[in-house]
Amino acid sequence: MAERRSVATVALRWVVAIAVVVIGLGVAGGLRPAWLLGLAAAFVAFAVMAFRAARRLESSLTAIAGTLTEEGPNAPLPRSGIAEVDLLTDRVAELKVRILGQAEAADRQQRLRDAILDSLGEGVLLVDHGGNVAYVNEWLTGRVGDIGPVVGGIVPLALQRLVREALRGGPSSDVFEFGTPPRTWEAEAKPLGGGDVLTVVRDVTEQERTDAIRRDFAASASHELKTPIAGILAAAETVLTAFDDDPDAAKRFAEQVLDNAHRLASIVGDLLDLSRLEASKPVLRPVLLDQVVEHEAAAQVEAFTEAGVDLTVHTEPVTAQVAEEDMALAVRNLLENALRYTDPGGQVTVRLSATAEHAILEVVDTGIGIPMRERPRIFERFYRVDAARSRSTGGTGLGLAIVKHVAERHGGHVEVESQLGRGSTFQLRIPLDRSDGTGD
Ligand code: ADP
Repeated sequence: MAERRSVATVALRWVVAIAVVVIGLGVAGGLRPAWLLGLAAAFVAFAVMAFRAARRLESSLTAIAGTLTEEGPNAPLPRSGIAEVDLLTDRVAELKVRILGQAEAADRQQRLRDAILDSLGEGVLLVDHGGNVAYVNEWLTGRVGDIGPVVGGIVPLALQRLVREALRGGPSSDVFEFGTPPRTWEAEAKPLGGGDVLTVVRDVTEQERTDAIRRDFAASASHELKTPIAGILAAAETVLTAFDDDPDAAKRFAEQVLDNAHRLASIVGDLLDLSRLEASKPVLRPVLLDQVVEHEAAAQVEAFTEAGVDLTVHTEPVTAQVAEEDMALAVRNLLENALRYTDPGGQVTVRLSATAEHAILEVVDTGIGIPMRERPRIFERFYRVDAARSRSTGGTGLGLAIVKHVAERHGGHVEVESQLGRGSTFQLRIPLDRSDGTGD
């Protein structure tokens, strides 16, 4: 490496070298001693001046370098009073402004890129051709923790395997489980130009769950519809053959056709209610809930009387911002259930009250009750504890799913307390006012 010398040293060396050469020539040329002495004195004076000038230049440059390295990028650069140095300082200052601007723009772009990549709701991982992690967004590290600097350290292992495969050249994708509780992830790794690999990771747990629910729902709905349709077909065929020979049997089978058609109509009706609840937002209006409850109770009084179940209604005036049709549907379903699962001689009490923020509807029965382990599932579509009792009393298995939907789309909720063999209490809580527009 070349030896580093200060400007002053260089200047002094040059002056001394020139002095030695000139005085040497003077001596050789027979210059008089007085002249030689004068020349030597002049060189000494010149050397001192050159040394001082060089020192000044040196300290100015050192000050600029010091400011640049030690006082941060925004500190003003010192002026030296030396025209050339100050010109250089101006150029350096301009360059600095430009570099700072570019650095800021790059920083802004990086922040923007990070914000975009994080708001995607997906994990993004970039591994370079050497297997080093070049970029990982917060979405992914927030879920799997530190991803490690090299491909060998990437967790989950399924993700590591995927990246390795893509590093070998082919695009690869996988669906795997990871985390506690386990969640389902879908990842796709693609080789980019230059051998780098870009991997995108999605959390598909909810999607998988909804797909499974949809699949179950389609299977259950088809199964539920198939039974009454089979009943109708069989009974209708029998009616045809029995029509002439056995008019009584024909009548019986025609009644069966009618029963099954009613069952079919109930299922289809409930399915339509459910899909309406799922597909649209409720139109909220001030509704007198006590009137809705009384109206629905009055509509079922006859059925209660026929079944020998006592029905009592206690309401206080409650006005809530709700969709009236939805509320009527929820009350109707809760009342039908209370009647369906209460034996003759039992009692059903409906209470409507309000707190400062909620309307509270309670339907209390002294019926068969619901086993503890079944309670979390009864709000699922087509889930029944006693399928035979439900079917024989006109149940579709959709009533509580409807009630739950009504509650949730009004920002409320429904819960149940029950004692096996002693009865159940369903409580529906609905906010009185959702004028903040949060209804969905
Ligand atoms: P269903 O049409 O079968 O009544 P629901 O969705 O309304 O369907 O209710 C689901 C299941 O919850 C019912 O099949 C029944 O087993 C149980 N259930 C609902 N309400 C009551 C209640 N009041 N008492 C006892 N069991 C009930």
